[in-house]
Amino acid sequence: MTIERPKELFCVNVFNRRVMKERLPKEIYQKLVSSIEGGQKVDPTIADMVATAMKEWATANGATHYTHWFQPRTESTAEKHMAFLYADENGLPIEAFKGNELVQSEPDASSFPSGGIRSTFEARGYTAWDPSSPAFLLPSKKGGTLCIPSVFISYDGTPLDVKTPLLKALDGIENSSMRLLKLFGNRGVKWAKPTVGAEQEYFLVDQKLAARRPDLQFCGRTIIGSVPPKGQQMEDHYFGSIHPKILSFMEDVERDLYRLGVVLTTRHNEVAPCQFECAPQFVEANLGCDQNQLVMETLRKMARRHELSLLLHEKPFAGLNGSGKHTNFSIMDSEGRNLLEPSSNSRRNIQFLTFVSALLLGLSRYMDLLRASIASPGNMHRLGGNEAPPAIMSVFLGEELTNILETIEKGLPEDLPVRGSMDLGLNRLPSIIQDNTDRNRTSPLAFTGNKFEFRAPGAPQALAPPLTMILAIWTWGMNEIASRIEARINDVDVVDAALDAIRYAVRESRNVRFEGNCYSDEWKEEAKRRGLTIANTTQEALALYLVPEYKELLSGLKILSEREISAYYDIRLEQYVKTLDIEMSVLSSMVWEGVLPALSKQLVLENNAMSSIADETLNSLGHWKKYLGRLATLKNGLIDSVDRMDDLRKKVQGEELEKQAEILTGEGLALFGAIRGICDASEQVIAHDLWPYPRYRELLQIS
Ligand code: ADP
Ligand code: MG
Repeated sequence: MTIERPKELFCVNVFNRRVMKERLPKEIYQKLVSSIEGGQKVDPTIADMVATAMKEWATANGATHYTHWFQPRTESTAEKHMAFLYADENGLPIEAFKGNELVQSEPDASSFPSGGIRSTFEARGYTAWDPSSPAFLLPSKKGGTLCIPSVFISYDGTPLDVKTPLLKALDGIENSSMRLLKLFGNRGVKWAKPTVGAEQEYFLVDQKLAARRPDLQFCGRTIIGSVPPKGQQMEDHYFGSIHPKILSFMEDVERDLYRLGVVLTTRHNEVAPCQFECAPQFVEANLGCDQNQLVMETLRKMARRHELSLLLHEKPFAGLNGSGKHTNFSIMDSEGRNLLEPSSNSRRNIQFLTFVSALLLGLSRYMDLLRASIASPGNMHRLGGNEAPPAIMSVFLGEELTNILETIEKGLPEDLPVRGSMDLGLNRLPSIIQDNTDRNRTSPLAFTGNKFEFRAPGAPQALAPPLTMILAIWTWGMNEIASRIEARINDVDVVDAALDAIRYAVRESRNVRFEGNCYSDEWKEEAKRRGLTIANTTQEALALYLVPEYKELLSGLKILSEREISAYYDIRLEQYVKTLDIEMSVLSSMVWEGVLPALSKQLVLENNAMSSIADETLNSLGHWKKYLGRLATLKNGLIDSVDRMDDLRKKVQGEELEKQAEILTGEGLALFGAIRGICDASEQVIAHDLWPYPRYRELLQIS
């Protein structure tokens, strides 16, 4: 077997600038690039030429179809394939792809969630090419599909996807960043763009075992199963050597992703057995969101090929760590500078602190939107677990950055106090910060030296919604700070004006900054005292979208109109209710089909054994009889609680959505937990070969 070097694979399936340059006349190429860079619509007069070039390239590489690849408001992507081939009027085969087909398409939108938006207009939805993310080719066994990253909108332009709001948020933050950069005199800077790199956690289990568990098949997580004695207590998995079978899987994933232009830079075992992580090289934010979708999709496909089952759920196994998607972000300018990178130049550091302060200021008012953006049925089981960030949002800066900001709050930088023998001069910021950040892994949002890291998103989530909220919050903060600086810039130097604005942001953000242990009970108490929002359930968290002040922020920044936010809320709530209902129905069938019969078999086994024993011996075996009684009690209790859950599911049917969510969250989850408890207790007292499902200890082993 010849081994292909990653370098040679890189971007072979991407219609990137190199390919465009090769295949388009110079002048068309330049027009296309300038409209991409300027964020403008592609000139319709060149669309035909671009489409033809794309088709030629794609078909030369085996593609037979194209699709507008978009991200509806579920977590995944959608595609409707269209053939390049058609027969002309003489019955002769022609391969064609026209400009208007590239620019716009009309998939049947009726089966995508719209939260009622579409019904008020028409069922039609349109996809429109997003040229800022390059088209790519997904090869398949007998051909391949040209994928055109697209937005998905209703006929009046109302977004039905997660990319459109992201693009709007990007537009806003790019303008606001430039406004601040200009104030600091950065004349040569042409643009500033957010960057993102998402660490992706996941579990892999044996496909054959997973296929024997309806919960893994239909819910993506185990809903029963008792935790084995050696779960992750031994802590021997993290950064351990990677099992050859898994390494081979990872190598194939990496290779496919290189072809798609995604560079995975890290791979390693995670804390729980069978849990792993990969992280890409960071890229511009819109592309980063698309690339993360490709990472998830490639992991899923490759798992099947390796006879593994990919679990992207936030909490696939009770008692073990869940999986998140740590979202690292910053802003880069056209000179290639990271705006969150401390510098050795003290004036630049004031600029750096201004950008940090803008985020803090935004968070002090709107941090709840971050909680809303990561609310999902699965994340509810992960957040607040002892390995994941809590459901309370806060931001961690590290001792050194906090000290610097608080010193600025107290006085002018000239009077920065001496801490020990160390001078806290602003020109020494980089070394001070780099040595001292990221000591706190418990915070949902942390400054990590030259970027922020949002740790609360769940592993299967689309990156765009939480990122959109981060950008909105940051934009608002930037605008506030820019206005404050602009108001004083005629009287004082920009540095002094900025220091004043920073001082204000530091003061305002005291409520959301927390440096301590976010897993502790003291923090819960402290958060209550501070009046921070504590949304434990997905329903409570989603409701935060509806707070008038937050809706105003998003509509004011033209990211989502009030009506669109309500629709978005409805979609997410409906998804939550559906998920709870599916999980309850799967639990019910696993109990009726598997657990109850297993209990009966064990009871019969014990009865038969007893009947073969002489009466006088039996009289002295009271404990054995007690065990029989215990099995009967488990069975009885299980029937009772499952009956009640089945009734509850029927009862809520007629209720309206919010009421359904309320009942299922309260009574429903309580019953669910009780049933699981009985199942797990049963599993522990039943013969191995009578238990109907692969157990945790079998699942959590790579053979
Ligand atoms: P950790 O110590 O948190 O595991 P890593 O060095 O593995 O950190 O990086 C995590 C992710 O952060 C990577 O995907 C990386 O590309 C991303 N990242 C690094 N710098 C930036 C940046 N300036 N903007 C956005 N993402 C970044
Ligand atoms: Mg990290």
